[in-house]
Amino acid sequence: MRRVSDRTTACSRRKRVIVLGSTGSIGRNALDVAAHLEDEIEIVGLAADRNWQALADQARCVRPRAVAIANRNFEAPLRSALQQPVASPIAIFSGDGALTRLVRELDADFVLAAVVGAAGLPSTLAAVELGRTIGLANKETLVVAGCIVTPLAARSGATLIPIDSEHSAVFQALHAGRQAEVEKIYLTASGGPFRTWNSDQIRQATLDDALKHPTWSMGPKITIDSATMMNKALEIIEARWLFDIPPDRIDVVIHPESIVHSMVQFHDGSVVAQMGPPDMRTPIQYALTYPHRRFGRTDRLDLPSIRRMHFEPPDPERFPALRLGHEVAAMNGTAGAALNAANEAAVEAFRSGQLRFHEIVPTVEEVLRRHCFEANPNLDQLMEVDAWARREVMQCCSV
Ligand code: MG
Repeated sequence: MRRVSDRTTACSRRKRVIVLGSTGSIGRNALDVAAHLEDEIEIVGLAADRNWQALADQARCVRPRAVAIANRNFEAPLRSALQQPVASPIAIFSGDGALTRLVRELDADFVLAAVVGAAGLPSTLAAVELGRTIGLANKETLVVAGCIVTPLAARSGATLIPIDSEHSAVFQALHAGRQAEVEKIYLTASGGPFRTWNSDQIRQATLDDALKHPTWSMGPKITIDSATMMNKALEIIEARWLFDIPPDRIDVVIHPESIVHSMVQFHDGSVVAQMGPPDMRTPIQYALTYPHRRFGRTDRLDLPSIRRMHFEPPDPERFPALRLGHEVAAMNGTAGAALNAANEAAVEAFRSGQLRFHEIVPTVEEVLRRHCFEANPNLDQLMEVDAWARREVMQCCSV
């Protein structure tokens, strides 16, 4: 009897984790970290958009309590691929709202939000409403709806722990001082594949060129965003909400080696940086085990072999997206929704050959300028702006 009860206690101490977007780059890394920390972490839910084969493979390995697939067409193949044992079947949610239902109906201590794009907003918002601890890899939640999510989290008691490598670095560095002592945040940027390309070369850039990130291995959307530096623009907006700091105190510095993941400057002049090899498992693990640090399986930094690290200012002429990031972070309201949706649609158009690489950011800027700005929007208004901005980009592409 005593041994059973001990075992129950040990199991109940494990952190129950839902991974939204489990088949993407962050999701797969998160499952790798969870397997490494299996004494502490129990995966109770997995969710994907359409990749049912990968979701079935993960579910057979991890045996969560439930899985969700957003595209209803893939429920049947997922169900048959899971080969359910009668004794402990895995619940399956599918269709619109499946990820949100998974979040609402599963008891969990931690929700890892790693769906790509604004599609991740409803399920992340559900976790915020429930007051969960959320590992936020989906930056769009704050870019689109920071003005709703941040006060909602304050009311519900939800905790947002950043997983984006730059924001994890800032979050860690902020532990060296107090909020009132922060002077500036430096977000580092690798500069992407076109850092050394001139404007004429950038005009000729192909999809293959844009998908070759020099230091990080990531999904295609964020890799293209890194090439335009729109990723850094979104990160300025994300930082403004996460750390409640005015955008004019958030600077971007190009750091091609991707060793320093970001820095905080305090008002005594000290700059505290977080460093490590470019491996997303580090910020994922930190979010999962915060405030503790567990043994990590990533490579260790070998500074003597790196020898040099470089820092340079970004070029606003070749990378105009950065200016948009600062502008939108200062505007708030519906501006983030317009910027993000226009960018998602423009990146899609580039991937399908309807837009050239150098047309992405001007198209996004044009849609941002034309959008009907609302300073204090509700969620419906944000969703309307999102849908409108996508339609506008489609129209730009068709003329
Ligand atoms: Mg990042």
